[in-house]
Amino acid sequence: MTYQPDESSARRMDLADPLARFRAEFHIPKTQHGEDSIYLCGNSLGLQPVRVEAAVLQELHDWKTLGVEGHFHAKHPWMPYHETVTEMAAEIVGANPAEVVMMNGLTVNLHLMMVSFYRPTASRYKILIEGNCFPSDRYAVLSQIRYHGLDPETALLEIHPREGEDIIRTEDIEALLEQEGDRIALVLMGGVHYYTGQFFQLERITQKAHQKGCLVGFDLAHAAGNVPLNLHDCGVDFACWCSYKYLNSGPGSVAGCFVHERHATAFDLQRFAGWWGHDKSTRFKMGPDYHPMPGAEGWQLSNPPILAFAACRASLEVFREAGMKPLREKSIQLTGYLQYLLEQQRIDGLRILTPTNPEERGCQLSITLAERGRDVFRILSENGVICDWREPDCIRVAPVPLYNTFMDVYRFAKMFGQAARGETIQQEAVL
Ligand SMILES: *Cc1c(COP(=O)(O)O)cnc(C)c1O
Repeated sequence: MTYQPDESSARRMDLADPLARFRAEFHIPKTQHGEDSIYLCGNSLGLQPVRVEAAVLQELHDWKTLGVEGHFHAKHPWMPYHETVTEMAAEIVGANPAEVVMMNGLTVNLHLMMVSFYRPTASRYKILIEGNCFPSDRYAVLSQIRYHGLDPETALLEIHPREGEDIIRTEDIEALLEQEGDRIALVLMGGVHYYTGQFFQLERITQKAHQKGCLVGFDLAHAAGNVPLNLHDCGVDFACWCSYKYLNSGPGSVAGCFVHERHATAFDLQRFAGWWGHDKSTRFKMGPDYHPMPGAEGWQLSNPPILAFAACRASLEVFREAGMKPLREKSIQLTGYLQYLLEQQRIDGLRILTPTNPEERGCQLSITLAERGRDVFRILSENGVICDWREPDCIRVAPVPLYNTFMDVYRFAKMFGQAARGETIQQEAVL
């Protein structure tokens, strides 16, 4: 892909974009001047699909008019409601529907999965995570280790990039697994690293870990809806993700969980139980003994939050209409364009932490700017750009193929250059 630095080429790429119509499926937050802001924060909170409002209102209406009868007589009956999103979610992560369930929040699901898949023994008790991982994941892992009466000093392994590098090399992960694998019970890594944007090689990591007898889980918070995933074929044991980042299902909406088919009927695995994981056909006999359903659904605890599910269902429909493959193609172009425009300006002190190889990243670029990062971030914010700042010195920018345009990227990069050089921001006339 070759790019040109001028504004007209951004316009041309937008005109040629086969997914352009999907922007109108979303509410774009406005600036104080009433214009569309340049929203590059879908990695943190995805925008609201227009059709979500009607979907949520439908459930409010059915609750208002039907009360408890809504469980069976709502337009979308609540009793089997969670099933309405399973297939669409499974497509996004490359799984069979029986391997996927949407439930709870992400960190909750990580815990439930560790209850089943972190079963330390005297000789195999370590958990391997990536260095500088998302705090919630680290807290969850530390608490699981302590819950088993173990000491994180000896039971937690963290893998870091080499001195002077930003990215964790796959060969280093493999080497560590080769060396320590016999003592590792669980490998639990991000699919896409939240800070650097590195897309880990799920298949190679899983193969090596399995070869050494470890179980493998991935946190796909920054991967689901962003990069192509093939959880079933990769052979990953479990995975968890949230739906409010790239999946646009609304703040705190219901999370996802994958359990590989090979564990579908492993009823002897320890698990925390609740009635929604109980065999559907006898759940309402209200018997005293627990009989879990086969597959991922068997890890459910509670009856699902219908309002959150309504948003999730409507949002996943948009994904299904657009298709992950075309989305990924546009994503590679958009992020490549962003990288090109930033590098082409030769900005002093600019560093992109994210891998330059499109195969090793999703849409996010993580940028540092020597000492000026925070000032530049502030100036961008004052000029209608919504992206995010991560301590200590990183600006994360995520052009999302469902609703961002090449023009968004062009305007962002231009303002970024002006702010970094200390120039006044030239806002172009509204487009
Ligand atoms: C966003 C994110 C979370 C958030 O966890 P919640 O339980 O949804 O609050 C956890 N882990 C990672 C890697 C994330 O990116």
